[in-house]
Amino acid sequence: MPPTERVLRKWRQEEVISRTGRRFTGRNVLEAVYTAWQRREGATLIAIASQLQTLELPQLHTQVASATEATTPAYADDRRLTQLMTLLAHGVLKQFQAVQAGRAVGVGLGDTTAATEAVIPLPLRQAQAQLARLAFEGGQVDECASVHELLWRCTKPLNEWAPLALAQHPHYADVVLIDAEYRVPSPACEDFGEEGGHLADLVENQIYRGLRQALDQLDESERDVTYTLVRRFVAEHPMVSRTGQAWRKLWASPRLNPAVREWLRFVYEPAHAALANRQGLVAQCAHCHAPLVSQDRKPLSCVLSACRATHPHPAATGEPLALADALVARPEVLRYWCNPSLDELRLFRELTALFPEEEVQLYPYQDLCDVAVGTRLGFDVKDYTDPVLLARKLNRGVGGLRLYDTMVVAVAERQVVNRPQYLPQVREHLQTALRRSLRVLSVDDILETLRHDGQLS
Ligand SMILES: [Zn+2]
Repeated sequence: MPPTERVLRKWRQEEVISRTGRRFTGRNVLEAVYTAWQRREGATLIAIASQLQTLELPQLHTQVASATEATTPAYADDRRLTQLMTLLAHGVLKQFQAVQAGRAVGVGLGDTTAATEAVIPLPLRQAQAQLARLAFEGGQVDECASVHELLWRCTKPLNEWAPLALAQHPHYADVVLIDAEYRVPSPACEDFGEEGGHLADLVENQIYRGLRQALDQLDESERDVTYTLVRRFVAEHPMVSRTGQAWRKLWASPRLNPAVREWLRFVYEPAHAALANRQGLVAQCAHCHAPLVSQDRKPLSCVLSACRATHPHPAATGEPLALADALVARPEVLRYWCNPSLDELRLFRELTALFPEEEVQLYPYQDLCDVAVGTRLGFDVKDYTDPVLLARKLNRGVGGLRLYDTMVVAVAERQVVNRPQYLPQVREHLQTALRRSLRVLSVDDILETLRHDGQLS
């Protein structure tokens, strides 16, 4: 079974196979065969890499030529695995929607009859069947027959629980489908869902579409301004007091129609009692206004992981809120809107100060991009842990960013700290045309360059 191109690139990137210039060499072919063979024999990539370094070309050739023919391929047919991952990701997205609508785990959102309503979402059941087949073929016991068990496992990397064909597959081994902290589908899950064409089911798209639909009932001339008003409010208020000034001011705004108010009621949930201390108060982060939580009796920390990365010591606490008044954004909104917004807001504030003569906009034209300087510069902030995943996302389209003279992807600072390879890896995985037209820089680099040169080229 030859490795896919993606796997080859990953091996080269991780320096398992050697690298001379941009092209693959003849030695690389032998190294790839050797690596695929050794993986089948159960060797780790680290062990293979160190063995390969000691082998001269003739020795490598002798080794590869002496390898015995495999009787059973360790990797099931790659296409079958891709289908399975798409089903599983789609199943997780569908189950998430059902839970969001108040259904129990293992019960889907049937849209036709009561009979189809009381069952596990179809793609999730199909994925379970495929996982069982894969386990059976590999001589393993199927442990995914319970949907509860399966979803819990999805909070961990596939290499810890999936049938061997997936667990040992270089492309899938590290995939985590459910974000364990926010209990929502992860970016990797969104990626598989998007690749499978299930755009409408992506969590990010659903949040966005909810607001867009509410705005559709406004006059067209009002929509852009209201979008920015509401989106910025959510970005700046992961938690808000319903009796406080900020909420009352928003609620009184003449720009809000009943549909937008309804959408806000959905996005903000009453704070869970577990967030409050004995005095019935919910502590608030002074940096981002999110709730502070204490897990396992550890000191209080901010619920936004992006905020924790910037401020490891959240000693400064804001004004605590009474539990009865506290509203907290839903976990998927915290994960997909509030987390990246810390860098979006920083970029917006700093660019506003840098370019006082120009119009600096936040979420312009209902989200063509995150921040724009006129039509000259468009910025999208991206907060992906995996640089390859980010590049694949960009390869599928950069959306409204296309309309700006200079298109910039601003990578959240926390992703590039101590990872000098992150930005080169994103660029390497971009399609050639995009690599030429898209600037991929960290937020700090962007601000630094603009402060000195006033432009990015
Ligand atoms: Zn915070």
